[in-house]
Amino acid sequence: MYTQIYILRFPKDTSDQPFIYRLVKEYDIEFNILKADILLQREGLMIIELKGSSKANVQAGLDYLQHLGVKVERMATGIRRDDENCFQCGACTGVCSSGALYVKRPEMAVIFEAEKCTGCGLCVPICPVQAMEVSLNDDRIFSDEFML
Ligand code: SF4
Ligand code: SF4
Repeated sequence: MYTQIYILRFPKDTSDQPFIYRLVKEYDIEFNILKADILLQREGLMIIELKGSSKANVQAGLDYLQHLGVKVERMATGIRRDDENCFQCGACTGVCSSGALYVKRPEMAVIFEAEKCTGCGLCVPICPVQAMEVSLNDDRIFSDEFML
């Protein structure tokens, strides 16, 4: 399963397209709309979590959106773990639903795979030594153009 949060920016002539319906029916993608501001004949913004069986599956849906003229950006722009600070306690793995943080057995090593990270940010306050750093696309989300 591949999950990622995206910022979608819609040109005004795409606001009446049944894109969510097609993502579900034709691309087999589950979605969770986190924030939306879309009106007919107006540019729009949507922050949406897309979940598919694989990265290729989600990418096919994104290709469809981009073909319509929708601009697609990943919500998380920078995700890193400070490996010098991380002492492998494993606390973060309990909140990471995307599988980006997990315990590898039998070594019991806490692995971080940035590619799987959705940028949800839940691991940041959980970590006792602030080893997880997630930078979000705040300049896009909170720009005057799209202030909700
Ligand atoms: S921000 Fe942290 S908890 Fe959320 S998906 Fe990424 S690694 Fe997992
Ligand atoms: S909670 Fe912090 S210290 Fe513990 S394994 Fe995760 S990143 Fe490392």
